[in-house]
Amino acid sequence: MAKRKLRIVRRTNNIPVLGVCEFCNMQFPAHQPLSGPSEAQAAIQQQFNAHKCKREDVNQAAAPTVREATTE
Ligand SMILES: [Zn+2]
Repeated sequence: MAKRKLRIVRRTNNIPVLGVCEFCNMQFPAHQPLSGPSEAQAAIQQQFNAHKCKREDVNQAAAPTVREATTE
């Protein structure tokens, strides 16, 4: 199973504005005006959760989906 990790790479006024997946380097900007750090973090986290790492295409034997599959 692929391990992926979200990293906040840029903050403005202590608010996360750009996150990156450490596994595939995809970037997740929080471009909306956000009410606070937790909102911005959530917006980035949401994009991170929804994305699919590119490297998974290479590893064909890995689990087919990253979505929240309940079983298998
Ligand atoms: Zn990724």
